[in-house]
Amino acid sequence: MFPETGTGFPGPGTMPFSEKSAGALAAAPAATAVFTAVLTEGPLSRVSLARRLGLSSAAVTKAARPLIDMGYLHELAATERTGPGAGRPASPLAVRADREFFVGVKITADELIGVVCDLCAQVRATARRPLTDPDVEAVLTELGQLVDGLLDGAGDFRARTRRLGLAVSGDVDRDSGLVRYSPFLRWRNVPLRELAGRRTGLGVTVENDVKALTAAEHWFGEGVGAESFALVTVGTGIGCGLVVNGRLVSGSHGVAGEIGHIGVDGTGPDCHCGGRGCVESIAGTEAIVRQARAAVDRAELTIADAVALARGGDERLGAVFARAGTAIGTGIAAVANLVGPARIVVSGEGLAAYDLFEAHIRAGFERQAFGAAADCPLSIRPLPFEEWARGAAAVSIQSLVVS
Ligand SMILES: [Zn+2]
Repeated sequence: MFPETGTGFPGPGTMPFSEKSAGALAAAPAATAVFTAVLTEGPLSRVSLARRLGLSSAAVTKAARPLIDMGYLHELAATERTGPGAGRPASPLAVRADREFFVGVKITADELIGVVCDLCAQVRATARRPLTDPDVEAVLTELGQLVDGLLDGAGDFRARTRRLGLAVSGDVDRDSGLVRYSPFLRWRNVPLRELAGRRTGLGVTVENDVKALTAAEHWFGEGVGAESFALVTVGTGIGCGLVVNGRLVSGSHGVAGEIGHIGVDGTGPDCHCGGRGCVESIAGTEAIVRQARAAVDRAELTIADAVALARGGDERLGAVFARAGTAIGTGIAAVANLVGPARIVVSGEGLAAYDLFEAHIRAGFERQAFGAAADCPLSIRPLPFEEWARGAAAVSIQSLVVS
């Protein structure tokens, strides 16, 4: 599964893990810290690593040595001097991006979206497969074929790939790889890590899709270096991943960041969660379609029709998107007021129409944010589905670094 392939690729004798277990790379905390810092913020010299991590230079050198020997880190040419006027030139440490590849797959109710990423989470290949049946067995069959196609196609990724990250919407236990409940797939208590591992022969991680996307932003995106940030996703559901004090918040009861179910209108529509006037009951894709159909009295109207009409200047449809944007902005203000993140990224497939939302999201946010919470910068940008798959791969990369 992970054969010796020649140049620059250590054989089994130097592998610190068994092929099957796909455990984390480094057992020592210092090595984990060094690898994480270089991966997310590198290239970095040993001196700046030591300063940043509160370690001695000798400890950094010791921690980095096995990672260099295994080909995960390498030294760039010396570019930097360690002190004013004196000292040896320092060679920054950098990650060898093509040392290992990772497959990431987002599972939706009607499609699998897959990517191959390198160690720096750069997408190297993509593929999609339609799903006609969300039954677990049927999905696993399609998943196996998608993964085979990605690894055996152009790029020759198979020999350097041991890990697969899966992202699923709903209630997912990352530690056990169990999908407790995924409403769109209608799955309950599916031991997905075990089943997908058996099907593909890869070491599998399973994570909630919004949390996976948040992990990607935290390690490889706009969240790098931020002690706290929030990622809000707009689409079928309205989700939110939160990083506080450098850690992803998962919630003591398994729920956190459910911005979609913050009540923003006490007289608003009933929500599928049993609540009333939730952000999602006003701004989720289904809710927008329902309101759009009522506004123009056309029962067959699709979301694409609604977007086209609103862009064409139909004020009735414009009002539907304005209401949705305001609800999202109000929900985001609640996050800023409660948590005070350094920045908030608003994204998701629903923002393909972000020209219709953006001004209303910002206005709703500014109206409701308390005092200096309104200073929190909002990045509003659309997000293709491949980014969700990249999020799944990012969680897989994290599992290489941190057990
Ligand atoms: Zn709700």
